[in-house]
Amino acid sequence: MLKQLKARKWNNTTVVCIILLIFFIYTIFPSNFATHYPYISKDDLISSLVVNNLPKSNDTQEFCKYQDLVRNNEYFYVSENIEKIHEPEDINAGGEFFPLDCQAVYRTAVIVPYRNRESQLETFLIYMHNYLRRQRIHYRIFVIEQNDSKPFNRAKLFNIGSVIAKRFNYNCMILHDVDLLPMYLGQLYGCTTLPRHMCAGVSDFRYNLLYKELFGGVVSITLDQFNQINGLSNLYEGWGGEDDDFFARLEATKIPICRFAPPFNIYYMLPHKKETPNSNRRNLLVNAVQRHRYEGLNTLNFKEKAVEIKTLFTRVLVDT
Ligand code: UDP
Ligand code: MN
Repeated sequence: MLKQLKARKWNNTTVVCIILLIFFIYTIFPSNFATHYPYISKDDLISSLVVNNLPKSNDTQEFCKYQDLVRNNEYFYVSENIEKIHEPEDINAGGEFFPLDCQAVYRTAVIVPYRNRESQLETFLIYMHNYLRRQRIHYRIFVIEQNDSKPFNRAKLFNIGSVIAKRFNYNCMILHDVDLLPMYLGQLYGCTTLPRHMCAGVSDFRYNLLYKELFGGVVSITLDQFNQINGLSNLYEGWGGEDDDFFARLEATKIPICRFAPPFNIYYMLPHKKETPNSNRRNLLVNAVQRHRYEGLNTLNFKEKAVEIKTLFTRVLVDT
């Protein structure tokens, strides 16, 4: 009897220890326990991308190679890449870059909706130019800045971004929050054949995908797909809802989304205080599908105040 009791006591201690150990491992490696969702594996990553920078017929330069970048998927979020821009002279005016020793296969407009987040923008530009040049793609960073004092309208700024991207002859867009930084180099900044949710694991959410329909933060989409869904809704003023409306438009148009495998899609979020949510966002969402054909890009109305070619980005100042 005494023996049995002793054995049970030992068993309980073991169980507690195992639970504590699991908790400890989870605390150290949260991304390894991220919510499961379908994803494109490492081996299929390159073939899922749209080749959109075909050389002119008289161009004999060789294509850049991306296999090693994906195979190594190097961890990039280290202080030397966040604090200081490397070889800034290699970046063209307006925040454009393309490699000179090979022909980039991917050509992308990075569209950032922005107002009044100066220190985040500075960090973003330093980090992203360090990061994107290592990928050896052709890109340009466009910051679409809301000039008026109305509530911030993220989705409308993306619609405006698509008009600008088209003007600059880009057919692939990456719609990018200013406070999200990709942590691994293998998250190639090109468009996939399907629109892609790029930041499935964000540091603030312990690298977990909050829900499978989440389509905010950082996404890639071709201009063709963006036009097919009539862009985004212009009606979401203030925080929230516009990304779910985006997803509803894709669903209504029968365009599925995709994601890369973790840890390709791990992002660090720069700290900021939470914006006030738009209290009307749920009412708007109810009619998202019905509205998408007659409200969006085809009703977009804005005032372009300036297009400025800055050293690290192209600034598009607009009244919404
Ligand atoms: N944003 C901005 N100024 C604002 C509010 C938002 O520039 O006053 C932009 C910025 O790019 C930001 C994005 O909109 O990353 C999304 O807003 P926020 O970061 O507040 O959303 P959350 O992180 O809470 O989803
Ligand atoms: Mn944010």
